[in-house]
Amino acid sequence: MSSSPVIFRRGLDLKHEVAGVLAESYHSDLIDQIKAAGYRFETGRLTILLAHEFGFCYGVDRAVDYAYQARRRFPDRSVFLTGEIIHNPHVNDQLRAQGIRFLTDPIESETALGPSDVVILPAFGVTVEELQRLTGAGCTLVDTTCGSVLNVWKNVSRFAREGFTSVIHGKYWHEETRATASQALRAPSGHYLVVLDRAEAAVACQYIAGGPGSPASRAAFLERFSNAISPGFDPDEHLSQVGCANQTTMLSTESVAVGDMFREAIRARYGEAQLAARFRAFDTICSATQDRQDAVVQLLAEKPIDLMLVIGGYNSSNTCNLARICAEKVPTYHIANPDGLMSARAIRYRSVSSKSEVVGEGWLPAEGSVSVGLTSGASTPDNLVEVVVRKLVDYAHTLS
Ligand code: SF4
Repeated sequence: MSSSPVIFRRGLDLKHEVAGVLAESYHSDLIDQIKAAGYRFETGRLTILLAHEFGFCYGVDRAVDYAYQARRRFPDRSVFLTGEIIHNPHVNDQLRAQGIRFLTDPIESETALGPSDVVILPAFGVTVEELQRLTGAGCTLVDTTCGSVLNVWKNVSRFAREGFTSVIHGKYWHEETRATASQALRAPSGHYLVVLDRAEAAVACQYIAGGPGSPASRAAFLERFSNAISPGFDPDEHLSQVGCANQTTMLSTESVAVGDMFREAIRARYGEAQLAARFRAFDTICSATQDRQDAVVQLLAEKPIDLMLVIGGYNSSNTCNLARICAEKVPTYHIANPDGLMSARAIRYRSVSSKSEVVGEGWLPAEGSVSVGLTSGASTPDNLVEVVVRKLVDYAHTLS
């Protein structure tokens, strides 16, 4: 019989002991100085303008802190992460360097967990099934699930209990959305549908507005959303009463639009009188994501900017959305890390339009004054932003 697991949810009482190594690994005095100088740094022909909110969010700060505490607290035990703690290769590499193992690594495929093992749950949480597996194995758990993710789960669980299908604006393959969707299945009749964007929302809304689908359209719907619906999902039945929520890191304007589309579809199908009984919506974008998106909107509205650099993992949802916002206004380069700035002329970045990595030339104007806007995703530490600043200074000087 497995022993019941110990779960740490509020740290491991070693905050002060790990503060030094965390500062050494992720902090930047230079970035602090730029913030203190009004988020502006000028040298020669170059001006760097930082967004007023960027980088590590409260959830990531806490998750990384707890991971280091766990390593310190259990020096003689195997400490695992269920996967990437956050979507930043630099941070994940640093954790590997501390001796923390990743259950998603191929080498761990045969690893059988037991009561002597410590497992850290990431900021975006794990599925109900995964949690049951880990508790069943009797592992000691360090749960870093962010409070803002727990808030989404609370809403989705309530939808399920009250008979509403959860419509989640998110990426069905993203760890957070998979974990959120699993919460909808805790109620016996719970169901979910994940929609990626307005286009997918429009497909579902047309289905709702049109009433019960023909066998052909029903089959097309099930085919299109095959990876994004709960087992046994029947669009004729399970789209009649919906509650909208979202992955915490989506583009907030799009989440609002998706909610509005479902509201209108339900109203069109069932009439105004039925709306309250058949539709609910909660904006579950986290405040850190919202603040970072608002900050780039403000930066681009208030300051003349020639180009934007957005730093963060390509698989980081919140970083990709920052790049989307910027790309609507100015040339934008989403770099995974400082290595993306290959030289004063060449840059390796993720194109917002093609969503793939490309290498571009001539990204930094060769002469005249140049104003570069800078932001970073919630999983990018300030020391990486500092490296980008130093490279920018160097390259602007090289080209002048
Ligand atoms: S992005 Fe938001 S939800 Fe995710 S860890 Fe950060 S604060 Fe929490």
